[in-house]
Amino acid sequence: MNFFCFSPKNLQLKNRANKFSFTRKTSNTCSFARKNVRKILLAIVCCTTFFSCTPKTQSKSEVVMGTICTIKLFDDGTTKLYDKIFSRLREIDNAFSTTIETSEISKINEAAGIHAVAASRDVLFVVEAALYFARISRGAFDPTIGPLVKLWAINTEGAYIPSDEEIAKVLPLVNWRNVQIVKNENANETAQGSNITIHSNSENASENSQNASDKNANAKTAGTIMLLQKGMSLDLGGIAKGFAADEIVRLLREAKVRKAIIDLGGNVFVFGKKASNELWHVGIKNPNDATGEPIAILHTSETSVVTSGVYERFFIADGIRYHHILNPKTGKPARTNLLSTTIVCKSSLASDALSTTIFVLGKTQGDALLKKLSAEQNSFVQFSPIENFASPLASIFIDEDETLFASRSLEGNIEVGLNEIIFE
Ligand code: AMP
Ligand code: MG
Repeated sequence: MNFFCFSPKNLQLKNRANKFSFTRKTSNTCSFARKNVRKILLAIVCCTTFFSCTPKTQSKSEVVMGTICTIKLFDDGTTKLYDKIFSRLREIDNAFSTTIETSEISKINEAAGIHAVAASRDVLFVVEAALYFARISRGAFDPTIGPLVKLWAINTEGAYIPSDEEIAKVLPLVNWRNVQIVKNENANETAQGSNITIHSNSENASENSQNASDKNANAKTAGTIMLLQKGMSLDLGGIAKGFAADEIVRLLREAKVRKAIIDLGGNVFVFGKKASNELWHVGIKNPNDATGEPIAILHTSETSVVTSGVYERFFIADGIRYHHILNPKTGKPARTNLLSTTIVCKSSLASDALSTTIFVLGKTQGDALLKKLSAEQNSFVQFSPIENFASPLASIFIDEDETLFASRSLEGNIEVGLNEIIFE
């Protein structure tokens, strides 16, 4: 509710005042009138500056990126800002979607093994980040998971359990090392910048990169991406929403929004403080509760909270749950004793990629990776567009017994019901 909205009465006052100042002639009266008019106009300007007349919308939801995206801007929720945010979300979807034929990712996939494709700054940035997470996880996170995602077709009408032979046929196509990025230096300024090959294990890499830069690079693109083997395909479903959330955070900072909640289908970012010195409460879903009841509530602020879990997209056959997070080594849904992994970190892109990665790695290896990253945090600072990135990584794992394992740094900020919680 906005108590400071102008009524038509106020506007009438402004009109009358204007008219008055231009029609009265006597100098004394005129200077008195001018002073008053100035005061009134000043008051109007101040009021419009601080309390815009536009009615504020507390929250807005739309289906984008295959999920319900809800943005809550509370008293800063102008139509203009919501429009800007949702149009940025659609722009990201149009670039990253594997179901939109004209998306950049679809074009890169279509040209696999044939030629390199010009890529925008967004796509290049996210693919490069995804390859970074692939490298540090030794392929547990793999952005070339596309052929396996297609084979299992989880969450579509074609979902089924593929045979071992079918999986074996597809597995060689899942290999992040066969993604080649050629970056234009100062892409926005010149097409002649020298090209840098970021990742490649192909003997033909330099030849391919030369072809790519000759044929496809142009001043409007940030570089090119090529999948070196025919049949390969990118799927950035495990990281793109994180990037999108970071992009919205950037827009919120630009617009000087005071507080907001970004929820991209469970990929949450709590922005600003709820009220003076009050933390936000973020629910962590109970993976065994279909109603979406939380198993825990995290009190936090100014951070992203991203969960990967068995309950998001799955089908059940013969009592076994087949979910959407695949192990690139086995070609099957990742099976450890974890039901969900939550990462708390200022960079939503990092939270998103790491929650998927650690879900695949399992608790022991996942813990080890998080410890290593926390120790050398600068290594992924570059993947956060958020200024002054300095957030300790924290995690919450839920295992098959519904026991919670949380980082020590979260102690005192998590509420749980009857479930056991171990801080380590
Ligand atoms: P998330 O829900 O963020 O954990 O991401 C899961 C989505 O990422 C899946 O729906 C796939 O699109 C993709 N994906 C599945 N397995 C992997 C994997 N091992 N590495 C990278 N992306 C994956
Ligand atoms: Mg993810």
